[in-house]
Amino acid sequence: MNLIIAAKIIWAIGVVGWYVIRIPFERKVKREKVVDARHKVRELILLSCSTCGLGIIPLLWATSELFDFADYPYSAVQLVLGALTFAFSLWLFRRTHEDLGKNWSVTLEIKDSHKLITGGVYRYVRHPMYSAFFLWAVAQLILIPNWIAGPAGVIGFGILYLFRVGREEAMMLDTFGDEYRAYMTRTARIVPGVL
Ligand code: SAH
Repeated sequence: MNLIIAAKIIWAIGVVGWYVIRIPFERKVKREKVVDARHKVRELILLSCSTCGLGIIPLLWATSELFDFADYPYSAVQLVLGALTFAFSLWLFRRTHEDLGKNWSVTLEIKDSHKLITGGVYRYVRHPMYSAFFLWAVAQLILIPNWIAGPAGVIGFGILYLFRVGREEAMMLDTFGDEYRAYMTRTARIVPGVL
């Protein structure tokens, strides 16, 4: 099989896998009562940036000739590394959902029974789900041999992360106070011990 077709199939399996992991948790949180929802419009704009970079632009690359002018030569090493990174990101994504449970939300929200999670993968970093999304974006960068569709995920999700993480932590501090402050002193944001 042609390497590019293989890359498109792996990318599609990864995105479908991501959604399949998320579905049961989406159902679970629907019943939760929200007591604080912040920056709603801004959050929707940020989510659109992320969806464009991780979803729409690579989808256009996979299904049309729009970005063909920005293609570059490909190798099997890239395909394998990209696939492995994608698999690792999905594994971490599932772990974060399991650990966060009903406390998860797509936008910035606090539920009436919200609990601060500091165990499981949350023991190592404060935002492991964002680490998983960055790994997905890096997988896309490695997997897709195109100067536009490859980096689009890092840029799209990077925008969401940069404009959200400070406000998310402010919301957690307002809700959990010293408990979150102490958690912040012993954890990094997305890379254990580093960042
Ligand atoms: N930033 C986290 C969670 C992403 S989901 C991560 O990357 O893993 C976003 C929601 O998770 C936010 O609305 C916030 O209410 C909730 N949240 C973030 N950190 C949390 C924690 N340690 N415990 C419980 N809820 C948390």
